[in-house]
Amino acid sequence: MNGITTRLDMSDNESPHYVHIFFMDGVGLGSADPNSNPFATAVLPHLTTLLGENWYTRERGRITTPRASLVPTDATLGVPGKPQSATGQATILTGRNAPQVVGEHYGPKPNTAVANLIHQGTLFHDVAAAGGRAALLTPYPPPYFDSINNGKRLYSAVPLAVTSAGFPLMTVDDLRNGRAVSPGFTNQAWRDLLGYTDMPLLTLWEAGQRIAALAQQYPFSFFEHWPSDRSGHRGTLAAARVHLEMLDTAIGGLLDAWDDAHGLLIITSDHGNIEEKEHRQHTTNPVPTILVGPDHANLAAAIHALTDIAPVVRQFLGLPHPRTN
Ligand SMILES: [Zn+2]
Repeated sequence: MNGITTRLDMSDNESPHYVHIFFMDGVGLGSADPNSNPFATAVLPHLTTLLGENWYTRERGRITTPRASLVPTDATLGVPGKPQSATGQATILTGRNAPQVVGEHYGPKPNTAVANLIHQGTLFHDVAAAGGRAALLTPYPPPYFDSINNGKRLYSAVPLAVTSAGFPLMTVDDLRNGRAVSPGFTNQAWRDLLGYTDMPLLTLWEAGQRIAALAQQYPFSFFEHWPSDRSGHRGTLAAARVHLEMLDTAIGGLLDAWDDAHGLLIITSDHGNIEEKEHRQHTTNPVPTILVGPDHANLAAAIHALTDIAPVVRQFLGLPHPRTN
């Protein structure tokens, strides 16, 4: 541990603290216009109970309730253009202003500059250096590993960070045995599209509960829900609304099983997209960062932009703040 005492340390009389980032790709805070924003007509009982009415609009601003805080979070980071996934995710994972460092918003997959930034250190590296275990809870099927290994596919930012820090990616066996949760929650796509016809099915609620249970096993874990960005790029306003309702049910299960006394849950995104369905591009809207857990209101007060999320995670876990040049 290099003499560093962190809250990763287990002791007999105190349960360890842990952080989970539930990441939704391409989800921003938009207008209240029901012809543009699928949030305006979606029925989202769990998020609305947590945060109150109209939480999904830009105009609503910061929210603090007894259980949660929401921060409209700047994803543009002072760099012109539309925020992209590689630089946005790298910013969340490093706390550094990735688009500023590499000179542009870049994505969806990291280029060399973004990859270099990730290799210099992320939250996954920080936890590894402190002697803890960290995990990306979303698994990958065998063809993914094949295409990575034969050079036909590049890692996106999150799995690049995980593997760079020396942690394994979750596999089909992890999914089958309940150690992972699929990006679409239910495993239906693993049955229908990937051919695992015997893969156990979960309800959305069960998948959310499983994320909460798995998060307790790691000081730091990450769940990557990427289909929300796809729903922004493709499909109808009505389909996007259905997608958000699915997401709300899974988050409901996650919140139902979450241990607020020990776990800091951070729900966030890399850039807007799905909240403006009159076009099919990313937006410059702020993204919602939702905090649940110990001291959520004070931690939320330190968040303004995507660069502020990693420092909050480090503070909560007692990880040293990395030197950056
Ligand atoms: Zn996108």
